[in-house]
Amino acid sequence: MEERDLFDERQETKKHSLTCPHCRQTNEYEINWIVRTKKRQLPPRADDRARAMYAKARSYMVRRDDLLACKNMRCRKRFEVAGVQSVVFTGDAVAGKGIAADPENFGNR
Ligand SMILES: [Zn+2]
Repeated sequence: MEERDLFDERQETKKHSLTCPHCRQTNEYEINWIVRTKKRQLPPRADDRARAMYAKARSYMVRRDDLLACKNMRCRKRFEVAGVQSVVFTGDAVAGKGIAADPENFGNR
């Protein structure tokens, strides 16, 4: 049993407001995430180790994009995504209803 057996995985795009460090212009950017939602039930073939993993597992999402191209046509430089966490835990309460990220842990700081 692997970690991925405990999660349903899908890809999602989320909008973030980011400021380019080169030209200081703020724009909305779409960032790709891999969303792993904890399965509602443990697979029937689970052993004790899998059960322990499942008990500890939490839904989370992983940011896929590290570099973005600035939307300012006079700049268009690439910059690193900063201020957006690369891993966000999303909790279990939202399983099956889409992901509602905890606003305290998400977005720009
Ligand atoms: Zn720029």
